[in-house]
Amino acid sequence: MIILIFFVVVFSFSSKYDSLIKDFESTAISKEVRLREHVQVSSNLIKGIAITGNILLEQEGSIESELYRYLRYVPVKASYNLDAVVGTQYEKRVGNLTGMGPIPDSGMNKDEINLALQCNKIFNSFYEKFPDVAWLYYTSENGFINMYPWIASKDFSYSDKLKTVPFYTIANPQNNPLRKSVWSPVYLDEAGKGLMITLSEPIYCKDTFKGVISLDLTNAQLSKIITSEYESYLIDDTDTVLANSRHSISDHQVMKISDFLSLSASDIKSMKELKMNTVQRFGGYYIYAAAFNNAPWKIFALVPVWLIARDAAAATIPILLISILFLLSMHQIDKRKISEKLLNREKELMETTLFSINEGIIVTDQAGNITLMNEIAEKFTGWSNEEAYGKQFDTVFHNFNISNRARISNPVKQVLETGKNVNSERTIGLLSRDGSEIYILGSAAGIVSNTGKMTGVVVSFRDITKEYEQEKEIEGFLNVNLDMLCVADAEFNFHKVNKMFEEILGYKTEELEGRSIFDYVHEDDIAATREVCGQLEVRGGVATFTNRYRCKDGAYKYIEWHSQISVGKFNYSSARDVTEKLMMEENLRRIAIRDELTGLYNRHFLDAVIEEHLARSDRYDEPISMALLDLDHFKKVNDTWGHPVGDEMLKLIAQITENIIRSSDVLVRFGGEEFAVLMPQTSLNGAIGASEKIRQAIEVNNHPVTGKQTASFGVAERVKNESFASWYQRVDEALYRAKEAGRNCVVAADQ
Ligand code: GH3
Ligand code: MG
Ligand code: MG
Repeated sequence: MIILIFFVVVFSFSSKYDSLIKDFESTAISKEVRLREHVQVSSNLIKGIAITGNILLEQEGSIESELYRYLRYVPVKASYNLDAVVGTQYEKRVGNLTGMGPIPDSGMNKDEINLALQCNKIFNSFYEKFPDVAWLYYTSENGFINMYPWIASKDFSYSDKLKTVPFYTIANPQNNPLRKSVWSPVYLDEAGKGLMITLSEPIYCKDTFKGVISLDLTNAQLSKIITSEYESYLIDDTDTVLANSRHSISDHQVMKISDFLSLSASDIKSMKELKMNTVQRFGGYYIYAAAFNNAPWKIFALVPVWLIARDAAAATIPILLISILFLLSMHQIDKRKISEKLLNREKELMETTLFSINEGIIVTDQAGNITLMNEIAEKFTGWSNEEAYGKQFDTVFHNFNISNRARISNPVKQVLETGKNVNSERTIGLLSRDGSEIYILGSAAGIVSNTGKMTGVVVSFRDITKEYEQEKEIEGFLNVNLDMLCVADAEFNFHKVNKMFEEILGYKTEELEGRSIFDYVHEDDIAATREVCGQLEVRGGVATFTNRYRCKDGAYKYIEWHSQISVGKFNYSSARDVTEKLMMEENLRRIAIRDELTGLYNRHFLDAVIEEHLARSDRYDEPISMALLDLDHFKKVNDTWGHPVGDEMLKLIAQITENIIRSSDVLVRFGGEEFAVLMPQTSLNGAIGASEKIRQAIEVNNHPVTGKQTASFGVAERVKNESFASWYQRVDEALYRAKEAGRNCVVAADQ
């Protein structure tokens, strides 16, 4: 239906649009035709007079005009005029003839005056048919003008200045050698009729230029011809506006087309190059353009596209409105049918729901007074429907907090006051009129009318006594266990945890329940833990894994988990703290390669890695050196201060040395108070330098009890493919020599 209406609207819009453009075109054409007619008639007239004039002038001694005798010479002005016809029978049908000097009274000059006077008849009959013409006149090279229609000589008379005005200059021999009729540009009328254009034709007698026949059309008159509801302009080849349909040309100012239309010079140029005699789209306009054969003009009629579109739309609106009304009424009928159906269904549903549902339902009005209870609500409150009717909700519904037995705020009041629904988050108790109790979960929701007003509240509640007691039992069972036990949901959030969680990790039960089990896993163990949980979900069965778990105090404990997923996607886990067990294992592992007193690597470690170092040195042809360090007179320290102080000193020496060597060096406690430093990628000189640094650092470090301690060093670079035993022997000999040399020094072995 909508599609059909859409097509009707589009069709009516587009056909109206087309017809508006057609209207525009036909109006423009009719204006063009009228103008063309004007131009044609004007040029025919001028041509006709010129031909007659030529002929008459060439027959010497032509007929004298009856007007000739009314010419009067005015001596003070040295000029003549025809003012004397005023009051005679000729007055209404002649123009005035005014000239300079005496009245020509013989020969060619007199013939020319007579000819000019004869023209009055033609001027008169033409003027009667075309009153739009401003002036018709003959201007003579001999210094006179015959000007039609009548104008008194005091208002206008001949002067030589006229020969410099465009109507005359355009037609004279210099400017018009081909003797054609020509149109002047726009200029201001000497005789006061405003802006005008003139069609002029020269008159010759036997190749002598005699004068000019002219016809004036004012811009105002031309504008009247082309005026219509559309904008139109007549312009000449200099873009000057000769006529326009919209603005009056009263200010006597020559205007260009660009003064009217806000178009650039290039836009105007392309507008003039538009195809003639057809409507075309140009920018925001439809334009009709036409040219003239016998005048250098073009006429343009324009109408803005938006105007056409607006009018077409306006014409379409009634159709659109009717269509919309039609659609709306169809829709209303549909809607009413549907809502009736819904209402019936709702009623049925309401009845069946209320009385078949396994929940207690209590309905109140907007004052919180009970209007309806179902059977289950009757059973658990101990009130019958009739008894409860009109009573406040909390009179009938005695709810209380399970842990402290305090009354819980009235949910109906809460809904009516806040406008928001209420859900019981925890299990609450409901006390019946007969003293029996059940555990329930419930909710209260506002009944909202169509207008958005709350007209009452529905309270529904469910007896969960059995589940609640069962849960309590499980809780009890969980808490007699010595392991941490927990149930997590499908998203791995703690659902239930036992008391051992608090004992081992420090969290209270309610702190954990509802939180994700991953919230507490050590950052580095999360990925692995997720993977195990993911597999458990897919494969089922039991998964055993260990991760680090954050305690309440921020420390981490190693927890070993045994998890199992049940059918309902619940995840049952037992977990225990294995931190101590793992620490012990770790310690055992560490002790095997480390010296217990200093924490440095021991001899076993060196034995385990030395071969690899030697092989690498040989393979890459890299130097490797070793230093042996033996504390000087250490026996004395022990003897003087006791063994524990000696031990302290050994730890200190280990620390000092470790701070100086490179990370790639290997520091080993070799035994007693003797240390070895293995220096890969180090030549003898490098090793001597490093040893010297250690020696100095030990020397400067004063112990608070024992004071200064020194050490002696033997150093050797390994010769290629040399055995460890041989190399070690050379280092040991060097150390011996250092002791010999007086101790507290570094001695290099012979290479
Ligand atoms: P020298 O300058 O010639 O090296 O004199 P010295 O006293 O240091 O002699 P020597 O190196 O022969 O003696 C090693 C002494 O280091 C023997 C022992 O009392 C002491 N010693 C060895 N191991 C430990 C140890 O683990 N703890 C302590 N406190 N003393 C140790
Ligand atoms: Mg020693
Ligand atoms: Mg020693």
